[in-house]
Amino acid sequence: MSLDPDDPDEFRAAAHRLLDACLDQFEAARDRPWQPVPGDTSAGYALDRGLGVGEAALAQRLADEVLPHGTGNTHPRFFGWVHGTGLASGLMSELVAATMNANLGGRDHGAVYIERAVIDWARGVFGFPDTASGVLVTGTSQATVIALACARLRALGPGVRQHGQGAARLTTYAGAGVHNATKKALELLGIGGGNLRCLPETRSGVDIPAMRAAIAADRADGAQPFAIIGSAGTVDLGRFDDLHALADLARDEGLWLHVDGAFGAWTRLAGTPWAGLTDGIDRADSLACDFHKWMYVPYECGMVLVRDEAAHRGAFAARPSYLAGQARGLAGGEPWFCDYGTDLSRGNRALKVWAALVAYGPDRLGAAIADNCAGAAQMGALVSDDPHMALLAPVVSNLCVFTADARLDAGAQSALNIRIAQDLQLSGAAVFSTVAIDGITALRAAITNHRTRPKDVAHAIAAVARARDAG
Ligand SMILES: *Cc1c(COP(=O)(O)O)cnc(C)c1O
Repeated sequence: MSLDPDDPDEFRAAAHRLLDACLDQFEAARDRPWQPVPGDTSAGYALDRGLGVGEAALAQRLADEVLPHGTGNTHPRFFGWVHGTGLASGLMSELVAATMNANLGGRDHGAVYIERAVIDWARGVFGFPDTASGVLVTGTSQATVIALACARLRALGPGVRQHGQGAARLTTYAGAGVHNATKKALELLGIGGGNLRCLPETRSGVDIPAMRAAIAADRADGAQPFAIIGSAGTVDLGRFDDLHALADLARDEGLWLHVDGAFGAWTRLAGTPWAGLTDGIDRADSLACDFHKWMYVPYECGMVLVRDEAAHRGAFAARPSYLAGQARGLAGGEPWFCDYGTDLSRGNRALKVWAALVAYGPDRLGAAIADNCAGAAQMGALVSDDPHMALLAPVVSNLCVFTADARLDAGAQSALNIRIAQDLQLSGAAVFSTVAIDGITALRAAITNHRTRPKDVAHAIAAVARARDAG
Protein backbone atom coordinates (compact mmCIF):
# COMPACT_ATOMS: atom_id res chain seq x y z
CA MET A 1 0.00 0.00 0.00
CA SER A 2 1.41 3.38 -0.97
CA LEU A 3 0.01 6.88 -1.21
CA ASP A 4 1.46 7.39 -4.68
CA PRO A 5 -1.04 7.96 -7.51
CA ASP A 6 -2.95 4.84 -8.58
CA ASP A 7 -2.86 6.02 -12.16
CA PRO A 8 0.38 7.88 -12.98
CA ASP A 9 -0.90 9.05 -16.36
CA GLU A 10 -4.04 10.53 -14.86
CA PHE A 11 -1.93 12.23 -12.16
CA ARG A 12 0.42 13.68 -14.76
CA ALA A 13 -2.44 15.07 -16.81
CA ALA A 14 -4.15 16.55 -13.74
CA ALA A 15 -0.88 18.06 -12.49
CA HIS A 16 -0.26 19.65 -15.90
CA ARG A 17 -3.75 21.14 -15.88
CA LEU A 18 -3.17 22.49 -12.38
CA LEU A 19 0.16 24.00 -13.42
CA ASP A 20 -1.62 25.74 -16.28
CA ALA A 21 -4.24 27.07 -13.90
CA CYS A 22 -1.44 28.44 -11.67
CA LEU A 23 0.29 30.01 -14.67
CA ASP A 24 -2.99 31.55 -15.86
CA GLN A 25 -3.53 33.10 -12.46
CA PHE A 26 0.08 34.26 -12.31
CA GLU A 27 -0.22 35.98 -15.68
CA ALA A 28 -3.48 37.63 -14.65
CA ALA A 29 -2.05 39.00 -11.38
CA ARG A 30 -2.52 42.60 -12.56
CA ASP A 31 -6.25 42.04 -13.01
CA ARG A 32 -6.94 40.20 -9.76
CA PRO A 33 -7.12 42.36 -6.64
CA TRP A 34 -8.24 40.94 -3.32
CA GLN A 35 -11.98 40.32 -3.26
CA PRO A 36 -14.20 39.46 -0.33
CA VAL A 37 -14.31 35.71 0.23
CA PRO A 38 -17.70 34.34 -0.87
CA GLY A 39 -19.93 33.36 2.02
CA ASP A 40 -19.96 29.64 1.28
CA THR A 41 -16.17 29.28 1.05
CA SER A 42 -15.55 28.37 4.65
CA ALA A 43 -18.21 25.65 4.64
CA GLY A 44 -16.82 24.38 1.35
CA TYR A 45 -13.39 23.88 2.92
CA ALA A 46 -14.71 21.96 5.94
CA LEU A 47 -13.15 18.50 6.17
CA ASP A 48 -16.34 16.68 6.99
CA ARG A 49 -17.03 15.35 3.50
CA GLY A 50 -15.51 14.97 0.06
CA LEU A 51 -12.38 13.27 1.42
CA GLY A 52 -10.26 10.61 -0.28
CA VAL A 53 -11.18 11.65 -3.80
CA GLY A 54 -7.72 11.21 -5.30
CA GLU A 55 -5.27 13.58 -6.96
CA ALA A 56 -7.24 14.45 -10.10
CA ALA A 57 -10.30 15.62 -8.18
CA LEU A 58 -8.01 17.39 -5.76
CA ALA A 59 -6.35 19.26 -8.64
CA GLN A 60 -9.73 20.48 -9.79
CA ARG A 61 -10.67 21.70 -6.32
CA LEU A 62 -7.30 23.42 -5.88
CA ALA A 63 -7.79 25.28 -9.14
CA ASP A 64 -11.45 26.16 -8.65
CA GLU A 65 -11.86 26.63 -4.92
CA VAL A 66 -8.46 27.51 -3.46
CA LEU A 67 -6.48 29.50 -6.02
CA PRO A 68 -8.92 32.42 -6.35
CA HIS A 69 -8.99 33.39 -2.67
CA GLY A 70 -5.54 34.80 -1.93
CA THR A 71 -4.61 37.93 0.01
CA GLY A 72 -4.36 39.98 -3.17
CA ASN A 73 -0.74 40.93 -2.49
CA THR A 74 0.07 39.74 -5.99
CA HIS A 75 -1.84 42.74 -7.35
CA PRO A 76 0.12 45.93 -8.27
CA ARG A 77 -2.02 48.22 -6.10
CA PHE A 78 -1.62 46.17 -2.94
CA PHE A 79 0.20 48.45 -0.49
CA GLY A 80 -1.13 47.12 2.82
CA TRP A 81 1.03 46.17 5.82
CA VAL A 82 4.36 44.96 4.39
CA HIS A 83 3.45 42.14 2.04
CA GLY A 84 5.78 40.74 -0.59
CA THR A 85 4.51 40.04 -4.08
CA GLY A 86 5.94 36.66 -5.02
CA LEU A 87 8.04 35.78 -8.05
CA ALA A 88 7.84 33.57 -11.09
CA SER A 89 11.09 31.98 -9.92
CA GLY A 90 9.28 31.07 -6.71
CA LEU A 91 6.55 29.25 -8.58
CA MET A 92 9.27 27.08 -10.10
CA SER A 93 11.37 26.62 -6.97
CA GLU A 94 8.39 25.65 -4.81
CA LEU A 95 7.53 22.93 -7.29
CA VAL A 96 11.06 21.57 -7.11
CA ALA A 97 11.24 21.91 -3.32
CA ALA A 98 8.03 19.91 -2.90
CA THR A 99 9.28 17.26 -5.28
CA MET A 100 12.63 16.87 -3.50
CA ASN A 101 11.05 17.17 -0.04
CA ALA A 102 14.49 17.68 1.49
CA ASN A 103 14.92 18.15 5.23
CA LEU A 104 17.46 20.88 5.87
CA GLY A 105 17.97 20.21 9.57
CA GLY A 106 21.39 18.93 8.58
CA ARG A 107 23.24 16.05 6.91
CA ASP A 108 25.07 16.05 3.62
CA HIS A 109 22.84 16.66 0.61
CA GLY A 110 22.45 19.25 -2.10
CA ALA A 111 19.71 21.34 -0.49
CA VAL A 112 21.93 22.10 2.51
CA TYR A 113 24.59 23.38 0.14
CA ILE A 114 21.99 25.74 -1.35
CA GLU A 115 21.22 27.21 2.07
CA ARG A 116 24.93 27.62 2.78
CA ALA A 117 25.29 29.46 -0.54
CA VAL A 118 22.40 31.80 0.34
CA ILE A 119 23.89 32.56 3.77
CA ASP A 120 27.32 33.18 2.18
CA TRP A 121 25.78 35.59 -0.29
CA ALA A 122 23.84 37.44 2.43
CA ARG A 123 26.95 37.75 4.59
CA GLY A 124 28.60 39.51 1.69
CA VAL A 125 25.66 41.87 1.11
CA PHE A 126 25.65 43.00 4.74
CA GLY A 127 29.41 43.02 5.24
CA PHE A 128 29.42 40.34 7.90
CA PRO A 129 32.69 38.39 8.27
CA ASP A 130 33.11 34.99 6.64
CA THR A 131 33.07 33.44 10.09
CA ALA A 132 29.55 34.71 10.82
CA SER A 133 26.76 32.13 10.91
CA GLY A 134 23.22 32.29 9.67
CA VAL A 135 20.06 30.30 9.20
CA LEU A 136 16.84 30.73 7.27
CA VAL A 137 13.70 30.80 9.39
CA THR A 138 9.99 31.50 9.02
CA GLY A 139 10.49 35.24 9.27
CA THR A 140 11.93 38.10 11.27
CA SER A 141 9.80 37.19 14.29
CA GLN A 142 11.57 33.86 14.65
CA ALA A 143 14.91 35.38 13.67
CA THR A 144 14.56 37.86 16.54
CA VAL A 145 14.02 35.10 19.09
CA ILE A 146 17.16 33.36 17.86
CA ALA A 147 19.25 36.54 17.85
CA LEU A 148 18.20 37.57 21.35
CA ALA A 149 18.85 34.06 22.68
CA CYS A 150 22.42 34.42 21.37
CA ALA A 151 22.70 37.86 22.97
CA ARG A 152 21.50 36.49 26.28
CA LEU A 153 24.00 33.65 26.15
CA ARG A 154 26.72 36.24 25.63
CA ALA A 155 25.47 38.20 28.66
CA LEU A 156 24.87 35.34 31.09
CA GLY A 157 27.15 32.57 29.83
CA PRO A 158 26.30 29.08 28.59
CA GLY A 159 24.85 28.06 31.97
CA VAL A 160 21.67 29.91 31.03
CA ARG A 161 20.66 26.91 28.92
CA GLN A 162 20.77 24.62 31.93
CA HIS A 163 19.67 26.90 34.73
CA GLY A 164 17.63 29.65 33.13
CA GLN A 165 18.37 33.27 33.81
CA GLY A 166 17.61 33.20 37.54
CA ALA A 167 17.37 36.60 39.15
CA ALA A 168 19.19 38.48 36.36
CA ARG A 169 17.08 41.39 35.17
CA LEU A 170 18.09 41.80 31.55
CA THR A 171 17.08 45.03 29.82
CA THR A 172 16.88 45.95 26.14
CA TYR A 173 16.82 49.30 24.33
CA ALA A 174 15.13 50.36 21.12
CA GLY A 175 13.36 53.24 19.44
CA ALA A 176 9.64 53.70 20.00
CA GLY A 177 8.91 52.35 16.51
CA VAL A 178 10.51 48.98 17.23
CA HIS A 179 8.41 46.12 15.90
CA ASN A 180 6.25 44.11 18.23
CA ALA A 181 8.33 41.05 17.27
CA THR A 182 11.07 42.21 19.65
CA LYS A 183 8.67 42.46 22.55
CA LYS A 184 7.26 39.02 21.77
CA ALA A 185 10.76 37.54 21.61
CA LEU A 186 11.59 38.98 25.03
CA GLU A 187 8.35 37.59 26.43
CA LEU A 188 9.02 34.19 24.96
CA LEU A 189 12.60 34.06 26.25
CA GLY A 190 11.39 34.85 29.76
CA ILE A 191 13.22 38.18 29.76
CA GLY A 192 9.91 40.02 29.88
CA GLY A 193 8.43 42.57 27.52
CA GLY A 194 8.49 45.09 30.37
CA ASN A 195 12.29 45.07 30.18
CA LEU A 196 12.22 46.62 26.72
CA ARG A 197 12.86 50.35 26.93
CA CYS A 198 11.25 52.17 24.01
CA LEU A 199 12.97 55.52 23.56
CA PRO A 200 11.86 58.60 21.66
CA GLU A 201 12.70 58.91 17.99
CA THR A 202 13.89 61.86 16.00
CA ARG A 203 13.69 62.10 12.22
CA SER A 204 17.03 60.33 12.07
CA GLY A 205 15.99 57.44 14.26
CA VAL A 206 16.17 56.69 17.95
CA ASP A 207 17.45 59.43 20.27
CA ILE A 208 20.96 58.19 21.18
CA PRO A 209 21.57 60.36 24.27
CA ALA A 210 18.20 59.22 25.64
CA MET A 211 19.23 55.60 25.10
CA ARG A 212 22.57 56.16 26.81
CA ALA A 213 20.79 57.71 29.79
CA ALA A 214 18.29 54.85 30.00
CA ILE A 215 21.12 52.31 30.07
CA ALA A 216 22.84 54.19 32.89
CA ALA A 217 19.59 54.49 34.86
CA ASP A 218 18.93 50.75 34.57
CA ARG A 219 22.49 49.91 35.66
CA ALA A 220 22.11 52.21 38.66
CA ASP A 221 18.89 50.37 39.45
CA GLY A 222 20.57 46.96 39.49
CA ALA A 223 19.39 45.75 36.08
CA GLN A 224 21.71 44.17 33.52
CA PRO A 225 21.46 45.88 30.13
CA PHE A 226 22.28 43.29 27.45
CA ALA A 227 21.07 44.35 24.01
CA ILE A 228 20.29 47.30 21.80
CA ILE A 229 17.84 46.87 18.94
CA GLY A 230 18.39 49.02 15.89
CA SER A 231 15.58 49.35 13.37
CA ALA A 232 16.46 49.46 9.69
CA GLY A 233 13.00 50.51 8.57
CA THR A 234 10.33 50.81 11.27
CA VAL A 235 7.09 49.20 10.25
CA ASP A 236 4.81 52.12 11.07
CA LEU A 237 6.69 55.09 9.61
CA GLY A 238 9.69 53.61 7.82
CA ARG A 239 12.33 55.29 9.95
CA PHE A 240 15.94 54.11 9.97
CA ASP A 241 18.11 54.30 13.06
CA ASP A 242 21.66 55.62 12.81
CA LEU A 243 23.37 52.24 12.97
CA HIS A 244 26.88 53.64 13.30
CA ALA A 245 25.80 55.62 16.34
CA LEU A 246 24.12 52.55 17.82
CA ALA A 247 27.19 50.42 17.12
CA ASP A 248 29.35 53.00 18.90
CA LEU A 249 26.99 52.98 21.85
CA ALA A 250 26.88 49.18 21.98
CA ARG A 251 30.69 49.08 21.91
CA ASP A 252 31.01 51.69 24.67
CA GLU A 253 28.48 49.92 26.86
CA GLY A 254 29.52 46.35 26.08
CA LEU A 255 26.09 45.47 24.69
CA TRP A 256 24.92 43.26 21.83
CA LEU A 257 23.63 45.20 18.82
CA HIS A 258 20.78 43.47 17.04
CA VAL A 259 19.35 45.04 13.89
CA ASP A 260 15.75 44.45 12.84
CA GLY A 261 15.96 44.93 9.10
CA ALA A 262 12.85 42.92 8.25
CA PHE A 263 12.19 44.81 5.05
CA GLY A 264 14.48 47.85 5.18
CA ALA A 265 17.77 45.93 5.25
CA TRP A 266 17.30 45.23 1.54
CA THR A 267 17.68 48.89 0.64
CA ARG A 268 21.31 47.72 0.76
CA LEU A 269 20.77 46.43 -2.78
CA ALA A 270 18.99 49.52 -4.09
CA GLY A 271 21.94 51.79 -4.84
CA THR A 272 22.22 55.49 -4.05
CA PRO A 273 20.69 57.03 -2.00
CA TRP A 274 18.75 54.15 -0.47
CA ALA A 275 21.71 51.90 0.35
CA GLY A 276 23.10 54.57 2.66
CA LEU A 277 20.12 54.16 5.02
CA THR A 278 21.72 51.02 6.44
CA ASP A 279 25.32 52.22 6.70
CA GLY A 280 26.82 50.58 9.77
CA ILE A 281 24.74 47.42 9.46
CA ASP A 282 28.01 45.51 9.04
CA ARG A 283 28.83 46.37 12.67
CA ALA A 284 25.78 44.58 14.10
CA ASP A 285 26.19 41.47 16.24
CA SER A 286 23.07 40.04 14.64
CA LEU A 287 20.68 40.92 11.86
CA ALA A 288 17.13 39.71 11.28
CA CYS A 289 15.48 40.22 7.91
CA ASP A 290 12.93 38.76 5.55
CA PHE A 291 13.16 37.51 2.03
CA HIS A 292 9.37 37.29 1.83
CA LYS A 293 8.78 41.03 2.08
CA TRP A 294 11.10 43.17 0.03
CA MET A 295 13.00 40.44 -1.78
CA TYR A 296 9.58 39.32 -3.05
CA VAL A 297 10.23 35.58 -2.60
CA PRO A 298 7.16 33.52 -1.71
CA TYR A 299 6.18 33.08 1.91
CA GLU A 300 7.67 32.19 4.18
CA CYS A 301 11.32 33.02 4.45
CA GLY A 302 13.39 35.10 6.83
CA MET A 303 16.98 34.96 8.00
CA VAL A 304 19.16 35.62 11.00
CA LEU A 305 22.88 36.35 10.70
CA VAL A 306 25.08 36.17 13.81
CA ARG A 307 28.55 37.67 13.82
CA ASP A 308 29.87 35.34 16.53
CA GLU A 309 29.27 31.79 15.34
CA ALA A 310 30.31 30.43 18.74
CA ALA A 311 27.54 32.38 20.47
CA HIS A 312 25.04 31.17 17.86
CA ARG A 313 26.09 27.55 18.16
CA GLY A 314 26.41 27.91 21.92
CA ALA A 315 22.81 29.02 22.22
CA PHE A 316 21.26 26.25 20.13
CA ALA A 317 23.54 23.30 19.30
CA ALA A 318 22.41 20.02 20.81
CA ARG A 319 22.99 16.69 19.15
CA PRO A 320 21.70 13.64 20.91
CA SER A 321 23.39 10.44 19.73
CA TYR A 322 20.84 9.72 17.02
CA LEU A 323 21.84 13.01 15.37
CA ALA A 324 25.61 12.54 15.66
CA GLY A 325 27.57 13.73 12.62
CA GLN A 326 29.78 11.23 10.81
CA ALA A 327 32.97 11.49 8.81
CA ARG A 328 31.41 10.06 5.65
CA GLY A 329 28.00 9.51 4.15
CA LEU A 330 24.68 11.27 4.57
CA ALA A 331 25.38 12.17 8.21
CA GLY A 332 28.47 14.16 7.22
CA GLY A 333 28.97 17.85 6.47
CA GLU A 334 28.98 20.97 8.63
CA PRO A 335 27.27 23.08 9.69
CA TRP A 336 23.95 21.42 10.40
CA PHE A 337 21.33 24.13 10.48
CA CYS A 338 19.54 22.51 13.42
CA ASP A 339 22.47 23.79 15.51
CA TYR A 340 21.54 27.40 14.76
CA GLY A 341 17.90 27.56 15.77
CA THR A 342 14.94 25.86 17.37
CA ASP A 343 13.81 23.77 14.40
CA LEU A 344 15.19 20.32 13.75
CA SER A 345 13.15 19.40 10.69
CA ARG A 346 13.36 22.24 8.21
CA GLY A 347 11.99 22.82 4.72
CA ASN A 348 13.91 24.10 1.75
CA ARG A 349 13.38 27.84 2.18
CA ALA A 350 16.77 28.51 0.69
CA LEU A 351 15.79 27.29 -2.74
CA LYS A 352 13.34 30.12 -3.39
CA VAL A 353 15.98 32.69 -2.47
CA TRP A 354 18.62 30.98 -4.55
CA ALA A 355 16.16 30.74 -7.45
CA ALA A 356 15.36 34.46 -7.27
CA LEU A 357 19.04 35.35 -7.28
CA VAL A 358 19.80 33.01 -10.17
CA ALA A 359 16.84 34.23 -12.23
CA TYR A 360 17.05 37.99 -11.62
CA GLY A 361 20.35 38.71 -9.90
CA PRO A 362 20.84 41.17 -7.05
CA ASP A 363 21.00 44.15 -9.42
CA ARG A 364 17.55 43.61 -10.84
CA LEU A 365 16.09 42.87 -7.43
CA GLY A 366 17.80 46.02 -6.13
CA ALA A 367 16.37 48.03 -9.03
CA ALA A 368 12.86 46.84 -8.12
CA ILE A 369 13.47 47.94 -4.52
CA ALA A 370 14.68 51.35 -5.70
CA ASP A 371 11.59 51.55 -7.91
CA ASN A 372 9.36 50.94 -4.88
CA CYS A 373 11.09 53.79 -3.04
CA ALA A 374 10.48 56.00 -6.07
CA GLY A 375 6.83 54.92 -6.00
CA ALA A 376 6.52 55.98 -2.36
CA ALA A 377 8.16 59.32 -3.19
CA GLN A 378 5.72 59.76 -6.09
CA MET A 379 2.83 58.98 -3.74
CA GLY A 380 4.19 61.50 -1.24
CA ALA A 381 4.33 64.15 -3.96
CA LEU A 382 0.76 63.43 -5.10
CA VAL A 383 -0.44 63.69 -1.50
CA SER A 384 1.39 67.00 -1.06
CA ASP A 385 -0.09 68.33 -4.31
CA ASP A 386 -3.64 67.48 -3.29
CA PRO A 387 -5.34 70.50 -1.69
CA HIS A 388 -6.71 68.52 1.26
CA MET A 389 -4.48 65.49 1.80
CA ALA A 390 -1.40 65.76 4.00
CA LEU A 391 1.65 63.63 4.71
CA LEU A 392 1.86 62.68 8.39
CA ALA A 393 5.48 61.53 8.21
CA PRO A 394 8.31 62.15 5.77
CA VAL A 395 8.75 59.51 3.05
CA VAL A 396 12.13 57.90 3.80
CA SER A 397 12.09 54.74 1.73
CA ASN A 398 8.99 52.80 0.66
CA LEU A 399 6.40 53.96 3.20
CA CYS A 400 3.91 56.75 2.74
CA VAL A 401 1.68 57.70 5.68
CA PHE A 402 -0.96 60.33 5.07
CA THR A 403 -4.42 61.59 5.80
CA ALA A 404 -7.10 62.06 3.16
CA ASP A 405 -8.43 65.32 4.55
CA ALA A 406 -6.36 67.43 6.91
CA ARG A 407 -9.17 70.00 7.26
CA LEU A 408 -11.08 67.73 9.65
CA ASP A 409 -10.46 67.22 13.34
CA ALA A 410 -8.48 64.16 14.44
CA GLY A 411 -11.51 61.99 15.11
CA ALA A 412 -13.17 62.79 11.79
CA GLN A 413 -9.90 62.27 9.90
CA SER A 414 -9.47 58.86 11.51
CA ALA A 415 -13.02 57.81 10.66
CA LEU A 416 -12.58 59.01 7.09
CA ASN A 417 -9.24 57.26 6.58
CA ILE A 418 -10.61 54.00 7.98
CA ARG A 419 -13.66 54.22 5.71
CA ILE A 420 -11.53 54.93 2.66
CA ALA A 421 -9.17 52.00 3.40
CA GLN A 422 -12.16 49.68 3.67
CA ASP A 423 -13.97 51.06 0.61
CA LEU A 424 -10.91 50.75 -1.62
CA GLN A 425 -10.17 47.23 -0.39
CA LEU A 426 -13.74 46.11 -1.05
CA SER A 427 -13.91 47.72 -4.50
CA GLY A 428 -10.53 46.30 -5.51
CA ALA A 429 -9.22 49.78 -6.31
CA ALA A 430 -6.21 49.56 -3.97
CA VAL A 431 -5.17 48.16 -0.62
CA PHE A 432 -3.95 50.64 1.97
CA SER A 433 -3.67 49.69 5.62
CA THR A 434 -3.94 52.08 8.55
CA VAL A 435 -1.68 53.19 11.37
CA ALA A 436 -2.10 55.57 14.30
CA ILE A 437 0.21 58.57 14.41
CA ASP A 438 -0.14 61.54 16.77
CA GLY A 439 -3.74 60.63 17.56
CA ILE A 440 -4.84 60.21 13.93
CA THR A 441 -5.53 56.90 12.23
CA ALA A 442 -3.72 57.45 8.95
CA LEU A 443 -3.69 55.72 5.59
CA ARG A 444 -0.45 53.82 5.15
CA ALA A 445 1.15 52.42 2.01
CA ALA A 446 4.20 50.17 2.18
CA ILE A 447 5.28 49.50 -1.38
CA THR A 448 7.08 46.16 -1.49
CA ASN A 449 5.56 45.23 -4.81
CA HIS A 450 7.62 44.78 -7.96
CA ARG A 451 4.48 45.06 -10.12
CA THR A 452 3.62 48.59 -8.97
CA ARG A 453 4.02 51.17 -11.74
CA PRO A 454 3.67 54.97 -11.53
CA LYS A 455 0.18 54.69 -13.03
CA ASP A 456 -0.83 52.37 -10.17
CA VAL A 457 0.31 54.91 -7.59
CA ALA A 458 -1.56 57.70 -9.41
CA HIS A 459 -4.67 55.52 -9.75
CA ALA A 460 -4.62 54.69 -6.02
CA ILE A 461 -4.29 58.31 -4.87
CA ALA A 462 -7.02 59.38 -7.31
CA ALA A 463 -9.23 56.66 -5.82
CA VAL A 464 -8.55 58.02 -2.32
CA ALA A 465 -9.56 61.52 -3.45
CA ARG A 466 -12.73 60.20 -5.11
CA ALA A 467 -13.69 58.16 -2.05
CA ARG A 468 -13.16 61.19 0.17
CA ASP A 469 -15.18 63.49 -2.05
CA ALA A 470 -17.97 60.92 -2.45
CA GLY A 471 -18.38 60.69 1.36
C1 LIG B 1 7.29 42.30 9.40
C2 LIG B 1 8.25 42.80 10.41
C3 LIG B 1 8.68 42.00 11.46
C4 LIG B 1 8.15 40.60 11.66
O1 LIG B 1 8.60 39.80 10.61
P1 LIG B 1 7.79 38.50 10.14
O2 LIG B 1 8.52 38.08 8.92
O3 LIG B 1 6.39 38.94 9.87
O4 LIG B 1 7.88 37.51 11.24
C5 LIG B 1 9.62 42.51 12.33
N1 LIG B 1 10.10 43.76 12.17
C6 LIG B 1 9.71 44.57 11.17
C7 LIG B 1 10.31 45.93 11.04
C8 LIG B 1 8.76 44.11 10.25
O5 LIG B 1 8.36 44.92 9.26
